[in-house]
Amino acid sequence: MAKKDFYDILGVTRDASDQDIKKAYRKLAMKYHPDRNPNNKDAEEKFKELKEAYEVLEDKEKRAAYDRFGHSWSEQQSMNHAYSNSGGFADAFGDIFGDIFGSSGMRGSSNSRNRGSDLKYKLDITLEQASAGLNTDINIPGWDICGKCEGKRVKEGSSIKKCRACNGNGSVRMQQGFFSVQQTCSVCHGSGEEITDPCSACKGVGRVRCNKTLQVSIPVGIDDGMRIRLSGNGDIGINGGEPGDLYVEIHIKPHKIFKRDGDDLHCELTIPFTCAALGGSIQVPTLNGKAEISIPEGTQSGKTFRLKGKGIRNVRSSSHYGDLYCHVAVEIPVKLKEEQKNILRQFEQSLRDEGGHHSPQSKSWTDRVKEFFS
Ligand SMILES: [Zn+2]
Ligand SMILES: [Zn+2]
Repeated sequence: MAKKDFYDILGVTRDASDQDIKKAYRKLAMKYHPDRNPNNKDAEEKFKELKEAYEVLEDKEKRAAYDRFGHSWSEQQSMNHAYSNSGGFADAFGDIFGDIFGSSGMRGSSNSRNRGSDLKYKLDITLEQASAGLNTDINIPGWDICGKCEGKRVKEGSSIKKCRACNGNGSVRMQQGFFSVQQTCSVCHGSGEEITDPCSACKGVGRVRCNKTLQVSIPVGIDDGMRIRLSGNGDIGINGGEPGDLYVEIHIKPHKIFKRDGDDLHCELTIPFTCAALGGSIQVPTLNGKAEISIPEGTQSGKTFRLKGKGIRNVRSSSHYGDLYCHVAVEIPVKLKEEQKNILRQFEQSLRDEGGHHSPQSKSWTDRVKEFFS
């Protein structure tokens, strides 16, 4: 199931202030708090979602990372949640109101010897760039192996010991009534390790934050939501694990003129009613220049002209181009002078004198209305 957007969960916009976020959270947290909704699974779920969303958005650094990377940031976050929420229902929610004021901070990342996590980077580009392709640099925050301890995580001369609480197992058995439950060790968060003298530079994590610049090559014809994988550019692996991958997710900004549908483009073509009636030639914009459309006499609103091959080149096939569809909207003149109105009145009279055959659409419409009422 796709994860919901944190801003949506709190019902705030992406530019909401810290105050707005806090307010929205308090209101919803009151509403869905388990104490007020006993045995209500939906409320419980909502409440969990809220808490998770708020923990990220209330924190400047996490929020910035979330805006950039989306949920791949929060996956790590929710993993830590799972660890910290091991004390059953009451404990899991007991600290909720404390969280409104205090910032819990990022807990140390989990210590399994794993591949680094995949990261997501949202890149906004214009429709023109999507159509032409683009090479661009992106700057991403990442992790690098700690230079001071070289990833060993402890001060020189010290070593990592077994966690005393769980004897290095990472989990403990607890008696709860009749049941014996296996829980993640709350002291070592499942790593089974104890670090008594953590490296002062990385605080025992073995890696430090860094910024790196990567070149991304965006192919011609890329569409909204497509992702480019930069293999090995995700988070570094933990304790010798492989690095994750970086996914650059493309977001195409809305265009002033064109709407995209696959490889095709659509635009509205506004023409004066005289041109629609008499016919004429009209210049239309395309993504890489101009084209001309000849408008036949008696063109109606809603008519579509197709310009073959003036759409976007297919991202997978360099020989296939989409089309450009221009949808006609006939414009009725405004702010007419009395003299101009008189010309139109005379014009109208001359049409009436000849019967209804100049307005095929309104005639058939009138007929349909008559039929409807009879
Ligand atoms: Zn432990
Ligand atoms: Zn270090």
